[in-house]
Amino acid sequence: MSTSVRDYYEVLGVGRNASPEEIKAAYRKAALKHHPDKNPGDGGAEEKFKAAAEAYSVLSDTDKRARFDRFGVEGVRGAGGPGFDPTQFVDFADILGDLFGFATGGDARASRRGGEDLKADVTLSFEDAAFGTEVSLPIQRYERCDACKGRGGRGGAAPVACTTCRGQGRVQYRQGFFAVARPCPDCEGSGERMKDPCPDCRGDGRTRRARTLTVAIPPGVDDGARLRLSGEGNAGRRDGRPGDLYAFISVAPHEQFRRDGFDVVLAWAVPFSLAALGGTLHVPTLHGEASFDVPAGTAAGRVFTLKGKGISRLDGRGKGDQHVLVTVRVPKKMNAAQREAVEKLAEAFGSESGTPTKDEKGFFERLKDFLGQ
Ligand SMILES: [Zn+2]
Ligand SMILES: [Zn+2]
Repeated sequence: MSTSVRDYYEVLGVGRNASPEEIKAAYRKAALKHHPDKNPGDGGAEEKFKAAAEAYSVLSDTDKRARFDRFGVEGVRGAGGPGFDPTQFVDFADILGDLFGFATGGDARASRRGGEDLKADVTLSFEDAAFGTEVSLPIQRYERCDACKGRGGRGGAAPVACTTCRGQGRVQYRQGFFAVARPCPDCEGSGERMKDPCPDCRGDGRTRRARTLTVAIPPGVDDGARLRLSGEGNAGRRDGRPGDLYAFISVAPHEQFRRDGFDVVLAWAVPFSLAALGGTLHVPTLHGEASFDVPAGTAAGRVFTLKGKGISRLDGRGKGDQHVLVTVRVPKKMNAAQREAVEKLAEAFGSESGTPTKDEKGFFERLKDFLGQ
């Protein structure tokens, strides 16, 4: 089943040289926008959603993308080629992140039954990360089947031990001198057989559902943090242990503030006259406006610290600070009166064209430190 799409790049609105990350981001955006759940009754949105899913299924696969680049859609839809099934991609787990199962090790049967961990991306504003928030997280996951209560048999019957492997999940056979064990072919290594599987879950004990989770984000989380939501991943097969959900946090940059751990950095440009004569600065902080005095002769690059005006520490031990890095603003345009005043100033300072200063290196080092670049 295919849509009438001819150009997958056009569908996702990316260039032919787009990186896998760009393709993924474009798909995520399109899928969220056109998702049928968000556009009920809108056939056009559904078509676009399917088209985006088809485009992504091709462009995210190196081989298929290469074939598409050479031969166009015929190269990936050709007779005998893999058919495309859009329902396979109607999947928030895929849109919001990658579905992946961590190998739990240990008992093979237990790890086969355990539910997979899920991953979801959460993007927060600078303020929400600083103050904490609650986000709604739409996901698709496997949950325990209601019809069989997770047991997998019709009417809630439990599975019986596989007779081929006597419940071991593996069988041994001889190859020359060696005894080789391999997963039991009759129960696929589970050690169990279901005589009459539940029709709702086909014996799996779990069914796929769309859910919107409410996730509390603690104040102080930073870009790159990973929150583990215990037991919120896929349900295990046949009532096995559920997996976890990992929320990967990204924090959007702020127009004015930068973050350095739990401290906030603000670069603040003042007029030359204020730096020379001293005065009171009024600056924004995450907690409203703050003011402080700067002394006469404040050099560019000087840093003032406002205690406790930063971000709450995750361990609850108070807040970080805000550092204000003072720079001196040189006007690009001046009116006649300003110009006259500056010319008088130049006269008063003489015709000297500058000297090397000790401070200069410190300034750039501090800039680098504080802006993290
Ligand atoms: Zn069931
Ligand atoms: Zn078996």
